[in-house]
Amino acid sequence: MTPAISKIVKEIQPSATLSLKEEIGSLEKEYGVKIVDLTAGQPDTGPTEDVLEALLEGGKLHQYGPVQGDPELRGILSEIISKEIGVRYDSQDIAITVGVKGGIDILMRVLLEPGEKAGIIAPYWVTYPESVRLAHGIPYFLESDDALRPDPARLRKEAEDNNIKVLLYSSPSNPSGVVYTEDELEEIAKIVKEKDMWVISDEIYGGFVFNGRKHKSILSIEGMRSNAILVDGPSKRFGVPGWRIGYVAGPREVIAALTKLQGHTNSGASRPEQYAMRVAYTSEKAREATDHMRQRYERNRNIFVKGLNEIDGISCIKPEGAFYAFPSIKKLFGHEYEFAGKEYMIKTSVDFRDFLLRKAQVAGVEGAPFGMDGYIRFSLATKQENIAKALTNIKDAVKKL
Ligand code: PLP
Repeated sequence: MTPAISKIVKEIQPSATLSLKEEIGSLEKEYGVKIVDLTAGQPDTGPTEDVLEALLEGGKLHQYGPVQGDPELRGILSEIISKEIGVRYDSQDIAITVGVKGGIDILMRVLLEPGEKAGIIAPYWVTYPESVRLAHGIPYFLESDDALRPDPARLRKEAEDNNIKVLLYSSPSNPSGVVYTEDELEEIAKIVKEKDMWVISDEIYGGFVFNGRKHKSILSIEGMRSNAILVDGPSKRFGVPGWRIGYVAGPREVIAALTKLQGHTNSGASRPEQYAMRVAYTSEKAREATDHMRQRYERNRNIFVKGLNEIDGISCIKPEGAFYAFPSIKKLFGHEYEFAGKEYMIKTSVDFRDFLLRKAQVAGVEGAPFGMDGYIRFSLATKQENIAKALTNIKDAVKKL
């Protein structure tokens, strides 16, 4: 008999998006159809030439580097934080991690004792609860209001009643595209201070804020220096999710503890990629490419969200940033349809996802793993023709329900 693997790992949910990829492939093969895939959590474009060249040059860095990350890159990020957020974090207060995901994973172990609670504002990125569980913490879900905005009054009460130690959110949000306003951040900051909590602000979509609005960070609010931790990275901003680079900025003792753990988990992020990031974060070409991405996502958002809201039974808040649309499909629950000689009823977001795959040949990710079962997430990081085709197909399929 094979010895047992750990209980904690058995209970972790596999990534919803990865298993979907297999489902899409097998449907396309079995029925000879082409599915419009709007599941991607990544840009559909890659880095600029100068960044790619730097990566090749960085290949010469083949020995172990500083666990905390390349000092020159940390210096550049210190300038970026200062320029974009308006606060000064020295390079000692910044650590380079293996993606933002790698940073959050280690942070949870740095901040939580076993059994302590991390409050996660719903809807949330699928990995947050699992990274809390892996650190033997308990995820505690904090509901948003009907417009999917954070609800400070509820947050205050829940934080008090439930002894929440760490608060975690992304703004711009994956999956909703909500961008927290200055007032909302002020309110959250007040609660964090009053309850003496940590707050982790995931700003990985900070480069994609629409309507000319400026991205705001909780780190810029007075008094937050001792409680707030920034996680960010180049995966979305420069289209390099496969390069696995992220960074964390926060109180020096947190960065020192994270670096200590990193020394025993991965010895730091890959050096050639860090070298290439020196160029990405200072290159005018790369900055223009990010701007161009933002304009494309904003245009896709305008077309897609307007079209979705014209469909009976679907309603979608207008995302203010990131590259997702997260419509409510609750009103379509209870409807039935036929596919390949079988009858199906839509009762959950997984059922709705399957309905769209089978009847509209459109793939989205069900809302359940984001903490909201009445919703579905579509990625806008795709060609405009895919957005148009997906809309037509969804309209036609829903009309026939
Ligand atoms: N945070 C959020 C909100 C995300 O949506 C993602 C990726 O989808 C990540 C973090 C992970 O980023 P990275 O590629 O840097 O690990």
